[in-house]
Amino acid sequence: MPITFAHPTTADRVTANLRPESIVISPRYAESYSFDRAGRLLSLFLDGRSFQRTLDHRLLVRDKGGDRRRIELPDAERDALLDRAFTTLATLAAALPQAGLPAEQAGPLAEALSLIGRMGPAALAADGAAYRGLFLPVSILPPDQYLALVVQATIGCSWNRCTFCGLYRDRSFRVRGVEEFRQHCQAVRDFFGAGLSLRRGLFLADANALTVPQPRLLDLIQVAQAILGAPDQPRPLFSFVSAFDAGRKSAEDWAALRCLGLSRVYIGLETGDDDLLRFVAKPGDSAAAIQAVRDIKAGGIAVGVIAMIGLGGDRFAEQHVSSTVRAISAMPLDAEDVIYLSAYREAPQTEYPSLAAGAGIRPLAPDEERAQRQAFQAALRARLPNTRVAPYHVEGFAL
Ligand code: SF4
Repeated sequence: MPITFAHPTTADRVTANLRPESIVISPRYAESYSFDRAGRLLSLFLDGRSFQRTLDHRLLVRDKGGDRRRIELPDAERDALLDRAFTTLATLAAALPQAGLPAEQAGPLAEALSLIGRMGPAALAADGAAYRGLFLPVSILPPDQYLALVVQATIGCSWNRCTFCGLYRDRSFRVRGVEEFRQHCQAVRDFFGAGLSLRRGLFLADANALTVPQPRLLDLIQVAQAILGAPDQPRPLFSFVSAFDAGRKSAEDWAALRCLGLSRVYIGLETGDDDLLRFVAKPGDSAAAIQAVRDIKAGGIAVGVIAMIGLGGDRFAEQHVSSTVRAISAMPLDAEDVIYLSAYREAPQTEYPSLAAGAGIRPLAPDEERAQRQAFQAALRARLPNTRVAPYHVEGFAL
């Protein structure tokens, strides 16, 4: 429900949009706040800058450097900004009765502002603490899953030894028991409350959750769907899997998972070059990845295949592009699928930088990286015209 009126005390033009899944309030020109339906602040635009409030209660703002990195505001700055924002919103709530709005607009807007006021800075801080108690940091999601409802059926990565990847070095791999996972899903449902309406699909985290042996995996997914799915149908379900682990399941296994809602599987191929896979200690080979995608697709599930620009530096550049394009082109991809191009970025406490330097491998310069991305895009679009090729900005990720 879009609502527009003049602010009774400041005369600024106020706009509000009350949607079933979100609330957006703009108390004046070039200032706006968005919330989920639990009244949880998600983002704000203020002083010409866009801020994201993460679920664990940080405020992130784009670095002025121009790349996609975001910096976290110090706590004192965050708190000052939030105090200012909520004072503005409280002033608007107090003035609303004088705005002369028709009852069908005034009522829902007053209700929304009251909800937002109750979820002010102190409540948001407590909400962030509750979130941190519920989740280990969600290290990464695919770009089309940032609004998914994440549940952690497994903790960490079952392999955790790819030399370029630092996503799960802070935790040991384990699979949650069914009862423990049931409690986790119930706590996730209670945490999001009315905010669940904003969450699109269900994402089974962490990495390689689909590596869980099939009987336990089916149990875990049934639990998640019973607690978080729609009453009459499963929520669309998504997850990562490595090509190596995907090969442990048959097309029949995938079809059974499809029946429980599994809609798309994201495969971190990184490269289709077997020499480079060995160099970065990624298990499996390109033939296994191709077969895994065939089986997944035969089970009726879409895939997202992720290749990493710049991996292997100058030494592997040529064979990385040609072998990866060849491998991806051999996969039966269609319009349901997507190919993501991420870019290698050095991760703390990983072995790859020193191993690459020791092998005399030079990282790609920015213009070489750009050229490699263009080479990938051109070749993949020519060979797979029906499949979307999209960027994957790993460095900008935060929930
Ligand atoms: S790249 Fe994937 S499989 Fe390799 S360590 Fe990272 S999360 Fe695990």
